[in-house]
Amino acid sequence: ASLAELDTSIPAPNRQQDRSLPAPAHAGTGFANTPDTDPSLPANRAWGRAILDRVVASELGNDVVAATTLTRAEDLEDTIAGAVAASSSWGSLSGAERAAVLHRAGDALEARRAELMEVMAAETGKTLDQADPEISEAVDFAHYYAERARELDAVDGASYSPVRLTVVTPPWNFPVAIPAGSTLAALAAGSSVIIKPAPQAQRSGSVMVRALWDAGVPREVLHLAHLDEGDLGRRLLADPRVDRVILTGGYETAELFRSFRTDLPLLAETSGKNAIIVTPSADLDLAAKDVAQSAFGHAGQKCSAASLVILVGSAATSQRFRNQLLDAVGSLTVGYPEDPGTQMGPVIEPAAGKLLDGLTTLGEGESWVVEPRQLDDSGRLWSPGVRTGVQRGSTYHLTEYFGPILGIMTAATLEEAIALQNDIDYGLTSGIHSLDSAEIATWIDGIQAGNLYVNRGITGAIVQRQPFGGWKKSAVGAGTKAGGPNYLIGLGSWTSKESRA
Ligand code: GLU
Repeated sequence: ASLAELDTSIPAPNRQQDRSLPAPAHAGTGFANTPDTDPSLPANRAWGRAILDRVVASELGNDVVAATTLTRAEDLEDTIAGAVAASSSWGSLSGAERAAVLHRAGDALEARRAELMEVMAAETGKTLDQADPEISEAVDFAHYYAERARELDAVDGASYSPVRLTVVTPPWNFPVAIPAGSTLAALAAGSSVIIKPAPQAQRSGSVMVRALWDAGVPREVLHLAHLDEGDLGRRLLADPRVDRVILTGGYETAELFRSFRTDLPLLAETSGKNAIIVTPSADLDLAAKDVAQSAFGHAGQKCSAASLVILVGSAATSQRFRNQLLDAVGSLTVGYPEDPGTQMGPVIEPAAGKLLDGLTTLGEGESWVVEPRQLDDSGRLWSPGVRTGVQRGSTYHLTEYFGPILGIMTAATLEEAIALQNDIDYGLTSGIHSLDSAEIATWIDGIQAGNLYVNRGITGAIVQRQPFGGWKKSAVGAGTKAGGPNYLIGLGSWTSKESRA
């Protein structure tokens, strides 16, 4: 879209809130993005420190990551039957009635911002600066899908019927926003939901679900199932009463799910191997900062993370860019989220398998410009790594590692750089740094990725402003973007009123 075509009716974000005061209730109609916490307010810094104190205290008291019971086979059958039975009353409410509940859910998530951030930090190692926008995103999903639910009432000559039962299987890396978004979309559409939080993030998922229950989402409609990865999970997914499965996770997980049931109605956002292209016309200082943030935010554990930077032409030999990048990476403070000075936290589990390979093994022609180091005995704390000399078609070029590793590639031309990104089977996020509008236009035309970012970082999609969804092997059976106007359509179907009469 040209600048002239951009939708300027989208309202600006609200003013920053003092988090030590109760958040005002949402007016119940309309949508505006929720502001993140402004750390320049002293009250908000004190609020953040209090969260970290609770993380430390609860770890000492050892009660944070409480064990959760696994559902037994009989319980699973009751859950499925109960959810299907409850879907008729929930699904026959008007969109406006469901919207009222969803707006209250948004308020309830906002009210639990501090608790959710505390649990995420303790359970997954997420730093507060990463956790805070995640809560804003969850709140945004509630208010945004509430308004989309309202629209389902307003189509002339057609009526919308939701699916009855949606199963939500979120990842651990966004343990609040992604489960909240998928669940709220299905609820907005009128479906019952069974959510199975990621095993590494069960408590984050539970607190999120409790907020929705408190807001008035009936427990018969929204079920929390802590299942083991084995038999019960397989049974749930293979059950023919399940109408939709919303998965966010690795591509292999989508394949595994489809092996459980051949006609599995899957909406999946999967893996990514994402590059930022830097051309000679770019603001190289800005590019270095954005590459470092996109690569190492949340220790690179985002599907959207940059794990390649592709330097075009003279940008490849620019000492300035390399120095700026190495400074930006080398000065990152690595630690645990309990320390407010931490800029990059730990990886979710002791590095093993593919990730350990990526942190320790170089391919042909590659060398470290910043060698990753293991910083303590946990196996979870690694300093960031930057490898150069990544060859076209090599393992590093084509593989997702999901950790704090960045690779540098070079290309003679922009076209070659675009081809290097498009060689990859995935197509999730992609970025360009260029101050030349013709280059940007060429890139937009040629690049195969669902989410495009120009002259900024490539993580941090925003509800309504930058809906999020993949292309190629980054999506399975999806087609509509989360946080965008059409997402609910995949969760039901339209019937023309004439044909029903
Ligand atoms: N939506 C997130 C972002 O834009 C990424 C989600 C994921 O990693 O699955 O950064």
